Amino acid sequence: MAEAVHPAMQLEWDTPLYQQALTQLDHALELAEVPDFVAKRLRAPERAVILNLPVKMDDGAYSMFPAYRVQHSSVLGPTKGGVRYDLAVDLGECAALAMWMTWKCALLRLPYGGAKGGVRCNARDLSLGELSRITRRFTAELAPFIGPELDIPAPDMATNEQTMAWMMDTYSMQKGYAVPEIVTGKPVSIGGSLFRHEATGAGVVMCVERACERLEWTLAEQRLVVQGFGNVGGIAATELHDRGSRVIAVSDISGGVFAPEGLDIPTLHAHVAEHGSLEGFERGVERITNETLLELECDILVLAAREDQVTGANAGNLRCKLIAEGANGPTSNEGDRILAERGIRVLPDILTNAGGVTVSYFEWVQDLGRLFWDRDEIRRRLADKMSDAFDRVWNVSEERGILLRDAALVAAIHEVSAALEARGLYP
Ligand code: NAD
Repeated sequence: MAEAVHPAMQLEWDTPLYQQALTQLDHALELAEVPDFVAKRLRAPERAVILNLPVKMDDGAYSMFPAYRVQHSSVLGPTKGGVRYDLAVDLGECAALAMWMTWKCALLRLPYGGAKGGVRCNARDLSLGELSRITRRFTAELAPFIGPELDIPAPDMATNEQTMAWMMDTYSMQKGYAVPEIVTGKPVSIGGSLFRHEATGAGVVMCVERACERLEWTLAEQRLVVQGFGNVGGIAATELHDRGSRVIAVSDISGGVFAPEGLDIPTLHAHVAEHGSLEGFERGVERITNETLLELECDILVLAAREDQVTGANAGNLRCKLIAEGANGPTSNEGDRILAERGIRVLPDILTNAGGVTVSYFEWVQDLGRLFWDRDEIRRRLADKMSDAFDRVWNVSEERGILLRDAALVAAIHEVSAALEARGLYP
């Protein structure tokens, strides 16, 4: 098989993030021992769509917005992944994130491959009308390449339920009937799922619970620190608080709050709801910086803010025993190496934050079946999926004496490889 992928595609995706994804993949491929054609197939995405969207702005002028959709692997089913609106969106970022989605879906045994897309723009500078026109134009131009059996978008950075509602409406208008199963993460009023909003944070805590069982720790006796108090971190902190655990510190972009005896999480949420962030919360807490928060003495550190938080610069100073990656890519490769040397276990992102895509899958299944489940049913099904994936990762790690991150990638690659081998190469 020739080595080269499409040169134009390669030129554009050859970015540091895609290189990081490839380095991780190459390391995992050595451990996974898959046939050569599988390894070659997985190093390059199947398809990349590059668009230039013309959009009329509120002042009457026209602007052009570069936009992308990358589909990494469709061997297990339709591709699935978020759409982000950010100035850093490029082909390499979408290609790397699409590849990580393939591993996440395969690990959870969802019948999906990975995709990711986005529009290069600064969402904060755009009006609701401009955002609506960008989203509708993006959806219309992507229409030949997405579909309930082809590729199913979801929200990501700076996109939300409203964005998904615009995408669903645009696609449905073109078809001539309502197609709720074209996107996930949409409002419940048009076919969204209950418990989707809570799913990622709840899944993080399900993983932490399972790890405590394996380590023979009692969760209620652990001291926890949570970095990030948004969708993932805020819900994770609430779930932990509801289980009687002691969350001793949390933080957001404005800094952190620390109370050694444990924080009152509902009061913190009420403050954020009123003031927009943790800024100004002083009652019964010590204010700390995010740098200090990461280095607090604790048992479990939940990273739920953003990428690249534990790096070569601070991994040597961390004083936790276990890390749960709620965010995507919060630990750099160098950070990982130092944590491994120090014996600090890391519950990897593709496992720990997979609750969101899992309930997205439940949303799609409910839409296709036109039959909707209650919260308890969804929570129960999510817990089953998370613990099944957790056990497979933990067992591979123990049996082969490899890190949990490598075990998760190996388990995921084996799922994709088995499908590729069974289907064979067409024609
Ligand atoms: P969010 O915007 O709701 O929350 C992010 C939180 O992190 C906010 O509280 C923000 O103030 C805080 N934050 C940002 N920079 C920070 C910093 N430098 N230090 C401390 N706090 C900081 O986003 P989210 O949906 O909770 O996503 C968080 C992470 O989880 C991202 O990496 C995202 O890709 C990942 N993730 C989210 C989902 C989901 O369903 N929401 C699913 C999988 C992965």
